[in-house]
Amino acid sequence: MNMVFRPTPPLTLPSDQDASGRTLGAEELALLAEVINSGTLTVTKGKVAKSFETGFAAMIGAKHAHGCSSGSAAVHCAIAAINPEPGDEIITTSITDMGALSPIVFQGAIPVFADVDPVSGNVTADTIAARLSDRTKAIIVTHLFGNPCDMTAIMELANAKGIPVIEDCAQAFLATHRGTAVGRFGIAGCFSLQQGKHITTGEGGIVVSDDAKFARQIFLFINKAWGYGDANPDHYSLALNYRWSELQGACALGQLPKLPEIVKSRRETAKAMTAELAGVAGIQAPPQGEHDDPVFWKYSLLVDPNVIPGGAVALGKALKEWGIASAPRYIQKPAFRCEVFRDQKTFGNSRWPFTLARPEAVDYSAELFPGTFKYLERVLVLPWNEKYTAEHVEYIAKAIHQCCSALREGTGQ
Ligand SMILES: *Cc1c(COP(=O)(O)O)cnc(C)c1O
Repeated sequence: MNMVFRPTPPLTLPSDQDASGRTLGAEELALLAEVINSGTLTVTKGKVAKSFETGFAAMIGAKHAHGCSSGSAAVHCAIAAINPEPGDEIITTSITDMGALSPIVFQGAIPVFADVDPVSGNVTADTIAARLSDRTKAIIVTHLFGNPCDMTAIMELANAKGIPVIEDCAQAFLATHRGTAVGRFGIAGCFSLQQGKHITTGEGGIVVSDDAKFARQIFLFINKAWGYGDANPDHYSLALNYRWSELQGACALGQLPKLPEIVKSRRETAKAMTAELAGVAGIQAPPQGEHDDPVFWKYSLLVDPNVIPGGAVALGKALKEWGIASAPRYIQKPAFRCEVFRDQKTFGNSRWPFTLARPEAVDYSAELFPGTFKYLERVLVLPWNEKYTAEHVEYIAKAIHQCCSALREGTGQ
């Protein structure tokens, strides 16, 4: 083993999986008590989830917001509102959460994976343009780790072709591009309130839109397509119950005023971290576009395996001894290598809707995805949290400095 200093016991970092790294407290409890005492737990009759929706829309600057049961449900609602024909194509990213992908298939559309930029891990106007076809019905972008995609270029492309864009903002609450919050560039923005996101209700999701008609379709898909409030309501089309509850709404409403501080804190500590890491050979801090203000859901490093022997995997292993649980490769493999897409495991043995796909749309050859493979080979994802202090940042930076020198000198393995 090596001679480098290692603290015993390691510093325990705040975690988003428990109270150490969450901001839940008296405000949520008071609102939850209010809901319980009211006896109305469903959002169809209650007022608390509605006030969250109004408040969240205002905070983002959007006209409409609808809460739902998860981030996956939020994406599903947005796709359903687009209403693709079976076999229509939806361009998406090879690096994202499965919750952003499976809804495409459930709506009978074909996910067409665009490559990503090898430094940001985000799709770009160029990688999207390379996958366009006359069957492209929509584009879904993920603002990975809270770092905005280049929405100026992407919207220019999409508007020129008349193709709607859905933004997956699950990791990007209050991130901005040219001063505008993500989620407001496309026809809809989808958010997740899952345990590990910037604010949480355990499970939950939100869809925002400026388009009244589109927002109405979102509302209907959340509500079994039942026309609440209409003169002659009916179940207008195929839809699910994707509602969340007043209990989740209360929790979300309690969190909402804390969100700007959460984001501010993550930005400040991430900035300090980037300064601490300047000059570490073989390490690249998360990229930041000139017009972007990311929100650091995670802090993603790029590790050059030609400089640091063993690359991201070796560094991740070394950091573990410091009590820092990083994730080399993030999702391990590109989404298209998951069994559901690779083997087209969908409805029974039918492989539907992939039976309707153009062969080019489901060509997952590695040559088509150079950015994806390069990014996944190099990325090391560090957990990030609003409760990190200067001491935590210094500790993580010191660990990275020491682990990197040990690996470079061959004493770290
Ligand atoms: C978390 C996440 C989702 C899914 O959200 P759930 O609430 O877990 O369903 C979708 N997309 C991205 C980018 C995510 O990070």
